[in-house]
Amino acid sequence: MCGIVAVTGYKKALPLLINGLKKLEYRGYDSAGVAIINTETKNIICNKAEGKLKNLINSISNTKIDGTVGIGHTRWATHGKPKVKNAHPHIDSSGKVAVVQNGIIENYQELKTNLEKEGIVFNSDTDTEVIPHLIQKELIALSQLNLKNNGSTLLVAVRNVISDLEGSYALAVLWAGAPDSLVVARKQAPLIIGLGEGEFICASDTPAIANFTNIILPMEDEEIALLNPLGIEIY
Ligand code: GLU
Repeated sequence: MCGIVAVTGYKKALPLLINGLKKLEYRGYDSAGVAIINTETKNIICNKAEGKLKNLINSISNTKIDGTVGIGHTRWATHGKPKVKNAHPHIDSSGKVAVVQNGIIENYQELKTNLEKEGIVFNSDTDTEVIPHLIQKELIALSQLNLKNNGSTLLVAVRNVISDLEGSYALAVLWAGAPDSLVVARKQAPLIIGLGEGEFICASDTPAIANFTNIILPMEDEEIALLNPLGIEIY
């Protein structure tokens, strides 16, 4: 049982993510991490720390992290020891896709072995890390179609990847190629969307959202959603 939180909108993401994670720490305190898309460079900036959320907060207290789109995680380890290398968010080899996950990917070993045969190098022992690598692979395949990159491209990539995942999970995904967007999905693990003023916040549980809005949309099982500051699409 981990806690995930994700935000897109017009306000700074870091305080919203940290606030949300504080309310989710009961779901796990092996490590905590955040990934935010830098407003100017559009690069993903990821910070993680072992142990309780306060360790993450202390480690970034002197760091300026400007961005309005981000994801956060507080971990209760199931696969891989409670170490920084296993802390979420997990990032693909290009550094452009970041993922947080609550749940267990039952067939991760088979997926990991296939990716390793293709030359992908893994940085963690978790079940989760297969997801960003698989999404990046899908994004490369989609780029052959010469479509304009946007959140819908990410939505399609995530949809294709989760159709190959076995297990129960809730996840949130960032992609530097669509820096305003977030994709979230759930299967037998909780995920809710809060409709705030100038932002959408997605989280594992209502306390993480309660400070921001009382308009909450619970996602149905096996739904996937694309969020950007202008609206939400749920499939
Ligand atoms: N299986 C993931 C991990 O070990 C998520 C854990 C969880 O949801 O409790 O990192």
